[in-house]
Amino acid sequence: MEHICTPKATIVIHGQSISQTQKCLENDDPTAHAVVESVRTLKKLRLRPQQVQDCRIYVEQGICPMCAAALRNYHIKYVMMNRQEVEITKFYFQTIL
Ligand SMILES: [Zn+2]
Repeated sequence: MEHICTPKATIVIHGQSISQTQKCLENDDPTAHAVVESVRTLKKLRLRPQQVQDCRIYVEQGICPMCAAALRNYHIKYVMMNRQEVEITKFYFQTIL
């Protein structure tokens, strides 16, 4: 099965790093992508979007539109991929004409 979304995401916030992996099969939850799990971690830590603006999220490969939307809802605008800062808008749904 081909992964269309990064299998691992690492958040670096306030000097600590927290890694999450994709848990769709493990949790029997099709939304349990690594980035969504990372956002859920921020929520469990009771961090509000205003408190995570300086965090970095590192991904191993591109992310899907659901993960991009989850980050957007947390006011996170970039992910680090291949040592580059990439705007999450790059991963939004594209209209196919
Ligand atoms: Zn995803």
